Amino acid sequence: MAAGRFDLVVVGAGPGGYVGAIRAAQLGQRVAVVEQDRPGGVCLNWGCIPSKALLTGAELVETLRAHGPTFGVEAGELRLDYGKAIDHSRKVADRLCKGVQSLFKKNRITLVRGRGRLAGPTSVAVTGPDEGVLEAANVVLATGSTEWTPPGIEVDGRRVLTSREALESKAIPGSLIVIGAGAVGVEFAYVYACYGARVTMIEMADQMLPGADPEAAQALEREFRRKKIAVRTGTRFEELKVESDGVRVRVRAGEQEEELRADQVLVAIGRRPLSADLGLETVGVATDGKGFVQVGPRLETSVPTVRAIGDLAGAPLLAHKASEEGVAAAEWIAGLERPALDPLRIPACIYAQPQVAWIGLTEAQAKERYGEVRVGRFPFTASGKAVASAHTAGFAKIVAEPRFGQIVGAHLVGHGATELIAELALAMTLEATTTEIAHTSHAHPTLSEAILEASLAAEGRSLNF
Ligand SMILES: Cc1cc2nc3c(=O)[nH]c(=O)nc-3n(C[C@H](O)[C@H](O)[C@H](O)COP(=O)(O)OP(=O)(O)OC[C@H]3O[C@@H](n4cnc5c(N)ncnc54)[C@H](O)[C@@H]3O)c2cc1C
Repeated sequence: MAAGRFDLVVVGAGPGGYVGAIRAAQLGQRVAVVEQDRPGGVCLNWGCIPSKALLTGAELVETLRAHGPTFGVEAGELRLDYGKAIDHSRKVADRLCKGVQSLFKKNRITLVRGRGRLAGPTSVAVTGPDEGVLEAANVVLATGSTEWTPPGIEVDGRRVLTSREALESKAIPGSLIVIGAGAVGVEFAYVYACYGARVTMIEMADQMLPGADPEAAQALEREFRRKKIAVRTGTRFEELKVESDGVRVRVRAGEQEEELRADQVLVAIGRRPLSADLGLETVGVATDGKGFVQVGPRLETSVPTVRAIGDLAGAPLLAHKASEEGVAAAEWIAGLERPALDPLRIPACIYAQPQVAWIGLTEAQAKERYGEVRVGRFPFTASGKAVASAHTAGFAKIVAEPRFGQIVGAHLVGHGATELIAELALAMTLEATTTEIAHTSHAHPTLSEAILEASLAAEGRSLNF
């Protein structure tokens, strides 16, 4: 039986909820976190972390196949056991889930097991193992999101999968259709292709990674085609039929209809917020038409004592955005002054190979805002480190506003892109210019020199290209 008074009750222990709870505890608040499943949320258990474990295996397979001979490593016929990679990814998730529980102990946060529901503006009713009612001065809702599948698609975990089933499925099919070329679709397409599946991707938008700079999306598409992953953009999913020996997917590109066949289909076209049955209507917390909780600049909902963070509060659906919002909510609740999150300073990363990472405005968006802009590009074919390590696909592209050369966007494709983007994120926080990057010493040889060179290129003074 859980009951009691707290300063803060957080519902949901994903990267938004658990990180926010830790920050609140650091600030002296008495905190309880209600979690119906495994601490760590989607990110640690069914998202970011296990998928990156699988991507590491995929990259290893590709490296041995594509680059082994270059370095005198002849692995011969590789024997692949994808089940072992899945086992590893589950162990990693378990380990990090336990890590969250020990962080709760360390910070004296009460973990309440069960399903939380707003019973009033300052109370949360819990059903499940720790049933009871928790009272608190403030409530943070952090219940996240789950897979969305269009009507007519029944996920069975055998022929029809979402990322959730894929993260447990130990068999690689002969062929796979991936519906949706967003981050999740791209990452799984890469994993399955490296482990031997014939993969076809379908994307309704006219580019992969809708929202990314088209130049980056085109580079990714080119590389995927080179890996024999078929990519069909501008192609709409129409209908799925499941048969005893596989799936048939009817698609439409313009006037053209076609039926594709494969052993399995992975649906990766979106997520929906977990906002139903949270007591939102009872208490008067407003949501948008899709069920995401509407929040103001300080993550406040329409009820002053209730805040919402992370996926539940809407796009971008990213773990670091959730965590940063958790920290911000905790600090505002504790009365600290701090800046609100700037959506243009939240990086987006795709961890297939080549990796794609971006932040801020695309070139087209920057042109819309500033008229003419300065754009600097540097291809990895001209980077000593990239050439030495045989990872020459991709480029760094920096977009700067015309007056001072302040960086307003950056788009990276290639090995290490997801690490390199941190320099640009810091540059944007500091409102840095391309000149300031040019005055920063970048170790040689490193991939980070591509950032330096792209900055130089934006000023029309490339050195190595
Ligand atoms: C396959 C995949 C890969 C991804 N990879 C990345 C990546 O590389 N980088 C990245 O930034 N993002 C990635 N994401 C997105 C990321 O996982 C989410 O943005 C992030 O987990 C959101 O955090 P959150 O705290 O808002 O919610 P969640 O992580 O969804 O956590 C919400 C928690 O609340 C609990 N909960 C829900 N309702 C209740 C209730 N009523 N009572 C009690 N508990 C409840 C849930 O059980 C869950 O534990 C990925 C997602 C997927 C699916």
